[in-house]
Amino acid sequence: MTSGTRLLLIGPPGAGKGTQAAKLSEALGVPAISTGDIFRHNVKNETPLGVQAKAFMDAGDNVPDSLTNDLITDRLEQPDCSEGFLLDGYPRTTDQVRHLDGFLAEHGTSLDVVVQLVADADVVVERLRKRALEQGRSDDDESVVRHRLEVYEEQTAPLIDVYGGRELVVAIDGLGEITEVTRRIMDQLAARGISGS
Ligand code: AMP
Repeated sequence: MTSGTRLLLIGPPGAGKGTQAAKLSEALGVPAISTGDIFRHNVKNETPLGVQAKAFMDAGDNVPDSLTNDLITDRLEQPDCSEGFLLDGYPRTTDQVRHLDGFLAEHGTSLDVVVQLVADADVVVERLRKRALEQGRSDDDESVVRHRLEVYEEQTAPLIDVYGGRELVVAIDGLGEITEVTRRIMDQLAARGISGS
């Protein structure tokens, strides 16, 4: 596990992380890994992990760190991650940051960049309202959305400072056309010497 790009996408729910993760995964040639998608898949298939995660997800709370950290260890040990990866929605807590740091150190590697997608609360609430109608995600209900935003502010927003202290963060305006936002990100990555494979 050495060459390749390792990046994180951080931002509030509804900032467009999933959409941009797919674009960047293609452009950079690394797998996009969404802990939210993995949890939803497990919930749908009623696996033991899904059964444990469901109540937390429906309430808009974070799934406990122990479950999430085990899940990400398993995923990052898959061969497709050996040349880099993009994490969407992980880490979300300082405990998860510690876990990821330990994992990467054990594998003799480290993060290259943390992309912060910036979008204000009114915009994300409106986007998620639309997504609720289109996709019917149970955690896109308006009161749950508000709670997810609070959880983001309390538990995840502080990570920007943690990674900022390591000079890893690039902040990107998440408003605008999808392709325009992708271009902004790719420009900032290029300025750091990171480009597509
Ligand atoms: P997302 O698709 O990233 O918005 O995640 C949907 C839900 O999955 C979250 O509201 C949490 O309940 C759960 N989840 C996803 N990623 C994590 C994580 N890193 N830590 C804890 N819970 C998570």
